[in-house]
Formats: sequence, C-alpha cells, structure tokens
Amino acid sequence: MSDCIFCKIANHEVKARIAFENDRVIAFHDLFPAAPVHLLIIPKAHFSTLNEVPAEQAGLLGELMTTAVQLAKELNLAEDGYRLVMNCNANGGQSVYHIHLHLLGGRKLTWPPG
Ligand code: AMP
Repeated sequence: MSDCIFCKIANHEVKARIAFENDRVIAFHDLFPAAPVHLLIIPKAHFSTLNEVPAEQAGLLGELMTTAVQLAKELNLAEDGYRLVMNCNANGGQSVYHIHLHLLGGRKLTWPPG
C-alpha cells in the first residue's frame, strides 16, 4: 500500500524507533506513547483491519503476539504486567489502517479503557 504510513515504516521509507524486526514482523515505539512503554507490533504485509486477515494467516497473528511477549520480557514488563490491544475500525478506536498490536506497560493501566 503506497500511502500507508506503517507500510512505509516497514519498508524503512519513514523513520521509527525500531525495537525488533524480522522478515515478517516489525516492532517500533509509538510516536505518541500512552504509557511509559508503548510499542506497536505489525506484520510487514498490509492488512487494513483484523477483518481482512484470512484464517490461513492465524500464524502471523500469533507471531505478533509472541513477538510482543518476547519484547515485554526484554523490557522487564513481564512480572509487573502489560497490556496487548488491537483496535478494529471506528468503534474500536482504530486510526491507522494497517493492523498493529499495541504493547503497553510501565504503569498501572486502568480497565475498561474509554
Ligand atoms: P490505533 O488508534 O489503534 O490505530 O493506533 C495507532 C497508533 O499509531 C497510535 O497510538 C499513534 O500514536 C501511532 N502512530 C501513528 N503514526 C505513527 C508513526 N509515524 N510512528 C509511530 N507511531 C505512530
């Protein structure tokens, strides 16, 4: 997707503070962090929303999750805890239409979110 900001980050056309990368997944720091640690873990392949991800890509969704857990451990969030969130479409609060898993931690997070 030529006009997708997260595709541009995945292709290194737009700068981001990258925390992890492999052939399928890239993780970077959120530009407007909502917690002391706020990373976004995305697939390099473009899917606008969770609704567009076919069942055959369940492994890729799993890799977003396992990457987030690994980063949480490396950033010493695991013991105190953290939150993983993926927003979908307008009511879910999605603002960037390339799926991304939020990893939030470093403070006590309230529930439910607004
Ligand atoms: P969502 O509202 O779930 O779609 O989350 C989108 C997130 O992307 C927000 O937390 C934004 O702060 C973040 N964001 C938007 N543009 C960038 C960017 N260029 N680099 C890093 N994070 C971004």
